[in-house]
Amino acid sequence: MRLTDDRYASERSQFELALRMIHHEARTHTIKDCTGLSDDRIRKLYTTYFRDTGDTKVTRRRGKSPQQVGPFVKPPLNQLEATTLVALFCASLLLRIDAANRVHACWPRPDVEYGHRVCRAFETYLLLHPRPRLSFEWAWSLLQNISKNDELVLATCAGCRATYVQDAYALDHRTCPCCEISQCREGRLVTGSSGKT
Ligand SMILES: [Zn+2]
Repeated sequence: MRLTDDRYASERSQFELALRMIHHEARTHTIKDCTGLSDDRIRKLYTTYFRDTGDTKVTRRRGKSPQQVGPFVKPPLNQLEATTLVALFCASLLLRIDAANRVHACWPRPDVEYGHRVCRAFETYLLLHPRPRLSFEWAWSLLQNISKNDELVLATCAGCRATYVQDAYALDHRTCPCCEISQCREGRLVTGSSGKT
């Protein structure tokens, strides 16, 4: 009886996570990685709970997750949002940052709890950025990429000492996105006032 209960609870958690991830338009292989469900079961869940209910806002995504790093560092608003996501991943104990600003993955491999934590972090990000620049799959890609400390790294701003996501192969002016945005605004204000005189 106890075994049956445990199995039921575990399956229920897998399904709940799959629905949560489909709602965020996660790709099938990402859902599979976390839930262990087959392509066919994921397709059926999507059909039953989204397509057949007339929920046309949710699209089923297939194929590979995005791999590029450009959208995490340009423009500065994207960089700011990517940095927010990394902070949320740390708060969710998915990542850890050491004293040398190197990022470490705290989870050996994706599982149901990992998936729920990623969803929770992403949902908090949506609350902070109601018009998000990064989709769930971009957030997933950021989480996987940043812990390799290869193409994406954490840099420190020379102006305000804040930590921010940076392209390891790009020219780094040691300016965080917040400082860059405020410098741009100040520049625009100065240009605007000089234009009037
Ligand atoms: Zn700064």
